[in-house]
Amino acid sequence: MTHDGARDGSLLSRHKKIMPPWLPLFYEEPLEIVRGDGCIVTDSRDKTYMEFYSGIATNTVGYGVPGIEEAVRERLRTGVVHTSTFYLIREQVELAERIADASGIPDPVVFFTSSGTEAVETALLLTTQYRGSHQVIALRYGYHGRSFGSLAVTGDRSWQGRGLSPLRVAYAHGGERRHGALAGLGDEDYVRACARDLEETIATCTPERTAAMIAEPVQGIAGAVPSAPGQLAAYQEVLRRYDIPLIIDEVQTGWGRTGRYWGHQWHDVAPDVLVFAKGVGNGFAMGGLVGRRAIMSALTAPSISSFGGNPLSLTAALATLDHIDTYDLPARAGQVGALLLDGLRKSLADEPWVCEVRGQGLLLAVEYTRPGTLEPAPEMAAKV
Ligand code: PMP
Repeated sequence: MTHDGARDGSLLSRHKKIMPPWLPLFYEEPLEIVRGDGCIVTDSRDKTYMEFYSGIATNTVGYGVPGIEEAVRERLRTGVVHTSTFYLIREQVELAERIADASGIPDPVVFFTSSGTEAVETALLLTTQYRGSHQVIALRYGYHGRSFGSLAVTGDRSWQGRGLSPLRVAYAHGGERRHGALAGLGDEDYVRACARDLEETIATCTPERTAAMIAEPVQGIAGAVPSAPGQLAAYQEVLRRYDIPLIIDEVQTGWGRTGRYWGHQWHDVAPDVLVFAKGVGNGFAMGGLVGRRAIMSALTAPSISSFGGNPLSLTAALATLDHIDTYDLPARAGQVGALLLDGLRKSLADEPWVCEVRGQGLLLAVEYTRPGTLEPAPEMAAKV
């Protein structure tokens, strides 16, 4: 069939013909969402849903949020959607100052990108240049993006595919903890074992210098798996002995979703580089990183991102952060998340296909497996 012919078919058949086969769609009957209001969305058949997925943790504060809509309309009225970072952009400096203050990183520098992947890639670029090494340590089950470098530090074959890599990567124990050698350990023993494993990984699998270790406070794509209490701090204690910077990937956990402003604030840990994206733009393409000046200054050639920190996304981001602050949404996510977690655990306690209900704040997951096993049941999850 020609492309013209495909245009006569359903949107789904047209999608399948023209989009790549590795771009997954959710549900047996994929949805086309055409309207949104608050936390309610409507599909093309006029059916309404309560939105629990928020565009993969991206529409942080909901759909059609008044303050954000007006700010973006006002920006559009100026006729300036894009200028390039070769010019001064007031909103860029304002947002950078705001994120720098919130990061808690001493003497911080901020750079904006247009996606989480690009932000992770930049963190890898900077730390490899800073340390003069292309060795990185990542965690098993972690997800960090879809580019060559960010995929290389993704410790999950189901996303990594063939795993060709521009970096040397060692995957330390951590994250999803019901599988493998550390399964069944209590929190303290688990954290001790993770730190010992990291020490051994550095001693045996890495060259003299390592560029960085990268970790998520809650492994999002792995299925909302929170780090154990003290786990990130235990890693950092080891890393500091070797001068290895810690990159914290807050792409899913930032902006209050876990019940604190940053996911790493649940842990006594100080990121050297913090990567953000998704929720900061409430749907507008926005990502970036904030880090210690020495690391952030490590590039010896100019580097630009044409769309990174464009005026429209910046305007949306500033309005989104205003909304988050005005309504203290981190605290709200903590309260509502605790209620939801408790309610889901109680109501699903006798459901044989539900293996675990877990998460932190409003970054929650219900995991479906074949009854009595850890074997995933994706078809059941899709049905639900
Ligand atoms: N890091 C984490 C933790 C993520 O969850 C994602 C996206 N799911 C990324 C990085 C990549 O972000 P993006 O899809 O915006 O490129």
